[in-house]
Amino acid sequence: MPDIQRFACLGKQDTIPQDSGAGKAGRARRAKRGGNPIYPRRAFLAFLVLHASQSINAGGIFQHPATFIPSITIEIPVRRPLIIGNWKMNKTASEAAAFIQDLRERVPASPNADVVVAPPFTALESVRNALGPSSWISLGAQNVHWETHGAFTGEVSAPMLRDLGCRYVIVGHSERRTLFGERDESILKKVRAALRHGLSPILCVGESLAERESGRTESVVTAQLDGSLAGLTPQDLATVTIAYEPVWAIGTGRAATTEQAVTVHRSIRLFIETGWDSKTASTIRILYGGSVTPQNIESLLASDAIDGALVGGACLNTDSFATIISVAQTQRD
Ligand code: PEP
Repeated sequence: MPDIQRFACLGKQDTIPQDSGAGKAGRARRAKRGGNPIYPRRAFLAFLVLHASQSINAGGIFQHPATFIPSITIEIPVRRPLIIGNWKMNKTASEAAAFIQDLRERVPASPNADVVVAPPFTALESVRNALGPSSWISLGAQNVHWETHGAFTGEVSAPMLRDLGCRYVIVGHSERRTLFGERDESILKKVRAALRHGLSPILCVGESLAERESGRTESVVTAQLDGSLAGLTPQDLATVTIAYEPVWAIGTGRAATTEQAVTVHRSIRLFIETGWDSKTASTIRILYGGSVTPQNIESLLASDAIDGALVGGACLNTDSFATIISVAQTQRD
């Protein structure tokens, strides 16, 4: 049998508490493995996974004269910060192009963070043109229909978004859920359609104030994840991002504290580990959204549990969005 040893290298790590509501199956699995999974903090933190097994000798890297030939695999779960600007229903096509020009002048490209802008459908083409062919800023949409084409007045499909250069799509935003009646069932269809057509879904989940105040945050978020990710494979989840956006924090100026966000992020990661596996849980990015500003981004990103931000109001101004991006680029370099 393969003998797998894990060595966590270099520095601070993020651990998942055992008592944060994983359910029986997850607890049993973790107990069997002898502890909690360890998630690396920075891109350069790595797990060195040493597979030393006669059963995998054929694939071994080192040729050894003895019968025992070890094979070494290095896994590097990288969670590079991701900053997404959700423009909502703001900016005409020409305003959008001018904004992108200005943003590009203010922020240099950096490999330390991924940046996405999600303008309205009507501005996607002008933003794509303003970004240019090999921009370090990616294009995202705010919604998608699950069918590819047909009699769906007012809707836009995943192939249409791909054709416009989109790489990401926001799905299940709380405004879509509350103002347009979206349910987990249709959100799941959208996630699946996005994945089928090569778009990375940004799945939004989050509780209302009443739900938080009645102690139901975790069960609400878990139910949303359950409904919106049902039946997806680890391969599917490799391109999914989860955005935890408490409804009471969106557009209110009242952001969650880092501690509140971290608690929910950890339970989301634990949910993914329980439902899928620890590798999927350690690599999926979980963003925080809800009144993110240049003033609070540093404190949010200071936690290993928060892999970036979904920004609404503060992304509409180049000064504030540039500052948020710069913090993400430098804080975890
Ligand atoms: C959002 O629209 O997803 C959002 C988080 O908005 P705001 O940053 O304005 O709260």
